[in-house]
Amino acid sequence: MKLILLGPPGAGKGTQAKMLTDYFSIPQISTGEILRTAVKEGTELGVKAKVYMDSGGLVPDEIVIGIVAERLQEPDCQNGFILDGFPRTVAQADALQTNLAEMDKTLDRVISLDVDEEALVERLTGRRTCKDCGRGYHVKYDPPAADEVCDACGGQLFQREDDCEQTIRKRLEVYSSQTTPLINYYRQSGLLTEIDGMQPIAAVQAQMLSTLQAN
Ligand code: ADP
Ligand code: ADP
Ligand code: ZN
Repeated sequence: MKLILLGPPGAGKGTQAKMLTDYFSIPQISTGEILRTAVKEGTELGVKAKVYMDSGGLVPDEIVIGIVAERLQEPDCQNGFILDGFPRTVAQADALQTNLAEMDKTLDRVISLDVDEEALVERLTGRRTCKDCGRGYHVKYDPPAADEVCDACGGQLFQREDDCEQTIRKRLEVYSSQTTPLINYYRQSGLLTEIDGMQPIAAVQAQMLSTLQAN
């Protein structure tokens, strides 16, 4: 299964990707997580990316395209992968197509999650993230069993610095100007399935599994 999850920040891509990863035994490739790890480790990539991430803008195409091209060569991507947060621009989508073609691979499906702006803001301001495994929680919609502790790995939960209202608004603007063109891009290639992301987490998951099983 070679899949892209498309949708604005807070739509539920990461939440659904983590579940699909277990279900299909294929890796989640989250460019946001890869970049956050680089920032935490203070690598050259991290230092470069941090400025863009802090402001809510996009990290330049050539950087993320390179990251994903390398990641797709890893042996665990052999049977498929879930791209979460990539591509985010038409240039990234074109580069992905070229990379996959070079590997004799094609995408199976692009799932786009639709969520109202005010719901996105509420989801992102209430999001908590595990510092060890990256799993997301929500203070109201998906709380951990024990306060501030990850159910999956026992890691400490934290609030991402870019999950503050001002940066959230900027990220939503960037999404609508730079990323929404991809909806038509993948609709035209016949790969797009749109799912109502306003439903509860379990209902979105059920719909995703049923559309993917029909693949
Ligand atoms: P994305 O990866 O698209 O930015 P996340 O999966 O991190 O989004 O979800 C953003 C926040 O919203 C998280 O706190 C998550 O727990 C919560 N969330 C995800 N899906 C839903 C849903 N269907 N209903 C309510 N809250 C959700
Ligand atoms: P969210 O789904 O909540 O928007 P992500 O974790 O996917 O957050 O991304 C966090 C930040 O990392 C983005 O705001 C952006 O600065 C950077 N980023 C992640 N993926 C990409 C990408 N494909 N292209 C450019 N920048 C990216
Ligand atoms: Zn964890």
